[in-house]
Amino acid sequence: MSSVRPIVLLGDPRLRLKGETVDSFGKYLHELLDDLTATMRAAPGVGLAAPQLGEAMRCAVVEVEDHLYELVNPMIIRSDGTDRDLEGCLSIPGYFAYVTRKEKVWVVAQDRRGKKFKVQGSGLLGRALQHELDHLEGKLFIDYLASMDDLFVVGQGDEDDDEDDATPAAPRARSRKAAKALA
Ligand code: ZN
Repeated sequence: MSSVRPIVLLGDPRLRLKGETVDSFGKYLHELLDDLTATMRAAPGVGLAAPQLGEAMRCAVVEVEDHLYELVNPMIIRSDGTDRDLEGCLSIPGYFAYVTRKEKVWVVAQDRRGKKFKVQGSGLLGRALQHELDHLEGKLFIDYLASMDDLFVVGQGDEDDDEDDATPAAPRARSRKAAKALA
């Protein structure tokens, strides 16, 4: 049985820990992966990494277009191009920013039984993969910003335009797109 667990939020030092290499592919890992998926889906988001559940382990899940990827000890082995788009993080709710990333990445990971596999991603999948792999290094999307002024603030479920001057207005279409990129 999987359970939805609380997501660690910005400010909690556990978000900044480097994940340790997974070398045991037993029940503990399987329950963690199941909980990552359940918590990601409940949020909802397109990805979630173990440090976001307070576990300093190198594993994460990504789900794009109904395909669930369970990534254990993932590594980017190749990348191509650049892509700039809005991005958010379930550990930093309500905030979004434009982040430049690789347009396409090739990742090698292990599955829950330790078997190696490759996944290639561009677009939302490519961005989610890079976002999750960053989490395993204790890195967050806000680390790419020159200034915190580059953050968009979007109230959850708040479609009003009466946000104060300190928050650049994010057009609705953009905020909806960004909500999909939560990981
Ligand atoms: Zn995140």
